Amino acid sequence: MSNCLFCKIIAGEIPCHKVWEDDAHLAFLDINPIREGHTLVIPKAHAPYLFDMDDPSYQSVLATAKQVAGRLKEVFQVLRIGVAVEGFAVDHVHVHLVPLTGAGQLDPKLGKPADPAVLAQLAERIKTF
Ligand SMILES: [Zn+2]
Repeated sequence: MSNCLFCKIIAGEIPCHKVWEDDAHLAFLDINPIREGHTLVIPKAHAPYLFDMDDPSYQSVLATAKQVAGRLKEVFQVLRIGVAVEGFAVDHVHVHLVPLTGAGQLDPKLGKPADPAVLAQLAERIKTF
């Protein structure tokens, strides 16, 4: 989709702090993280709503989220990686993965703009783990 923010990121028209990629998925840091390491996992094919995806695509998005979550858990040494899918801000499926140390931390209202230099450093840590 030509005016979709995430499709533009996939096309390389808008930069992102990439942490993981395969042929069909991309994972990058949220620029307004709820917590350190807040990552978005998206399919490269534009899809507006997770539960409207065909089963193989849906399952591969979640399998990718699981894989990326495992990496985030190790890098940030947290108890859990929280998962959220809302999709109101950008109309392209994205799974939020948020490193958590306790209950109540998975609140979108906690999101704040992050320093791009800090994000670049974090992305490097996750990518090279
Ligand atoms: Zn899109």
